[in-house]
Amino acid sequence: TAGVAYGTPHGPGRTRDGHPVPLLANIGGPDEVERALAMGAEGVGLYRTEFLYLGREHPPSREEQEPAYRAVLDAFPGRPVVVRTLDAGADKPLAFLPAPGREPNPALGRRGLRAYRDFPGVMEEQLAALGAVVTTDLQVMAPMVATAEEAAWFAAACRTAGLPQAGVMVEIPSAALRAETVVAAVDFVSIGTNDLAQYAFAADRELGAVSGLLDPWQPALLDLVSMTTAAAAVAGKPCGVCGEAAADPALACVLVGLGATSLSMGSAALPAVRAALAAHTLEQCEQAAQAALTQATAEQARAAARADLPGLA
Ligand code: PEP
Ligand code: MG
Repeated sequence: TAGVAYGTPHGPGRTRDGHPVPLLANIGGPDEVERALAMGAEGVGLYRTEFLYLGREHPPSREEQEPAYRAVLDAFPGRPVVVRTLDAGADKPLAFLPAPGREPNPALGRRGLRAYRDFPGVMEEQLAALGAVVTTDLQVMAPMVATAEEAAWFAAACRTAGLPQAGVMVEIPSAALRAETVVAAVDFVSIGTNDLAQYAFAADRELGAVSGLLDPWQPALLDLVSMTTAAAAVAGKPCGVCGEAAADPALACVLVGLGATSLSMGSAALPAVRAALAAHTLEQCEQAAQAALTQATAEQARAAARADLPGLA
């Protein structure tokens, strides 16, 4: 990645009136860092660490994990890097965790943080690896958090490991409904709209036949996002969005209008989202968000928001 400086060639994310919205990359490992930098990512908003664990008999040791984390941190000096701890289960079975085949509904089973409670050694080893590479830029967050009690439990484990910035994903509706208490337990939250939609609409995200329900413009999903951003704003804590919704330029503006403080997406989407934000004021984004929230259907929400966002290509 030598020679590819932060922010080039496109500059930091901001609205037309200069409200900063850091535009971050979702990555699956250090091999995706170069592309993220080339697309102007201002940091990493979601490092999915599952790849370190897949296809192994035993979990990787802390020494095996450290180089991957260090490589990502080194690529973004002075920029946020949000590492998500292992999100196993459901579609990502691992030999050393509960066999998903023996859970009748793996998406509702012991996935994400739930598996840590039954297999604490796996989480402790990962937090120790992160503790060994910790910098002021490193933020660590847990997936699949349903309650404030779980969030507090994870934050305490992070503190024990010497990790100063602990957060959780809000991707289960219960966490959004009680966002105030979840936010109070951590330093930041990040909304995962992929699973939040799956669980809000009881629609399997792997199943094309129900994908109509998973349209990220669904007003009920926007309600859950709004509850979360509002709670974070009251608490004065960062609330990013790292689900696919952030990659839709018009919806990205709406998310900012709802109060998202950063957006993280696959690198390919960064230029279009950057351009959409740069073409609209924060007030326009807020108006588009309020217009979308008051609609009855996803199609109407999309149309209403776009009417308030005249600068979209
Ligand atoms: C999400 O659920 O929205 C998310 C970002 O995480 P993943 O897609 O890895 O489940
Ligand atoms: Mg998820």
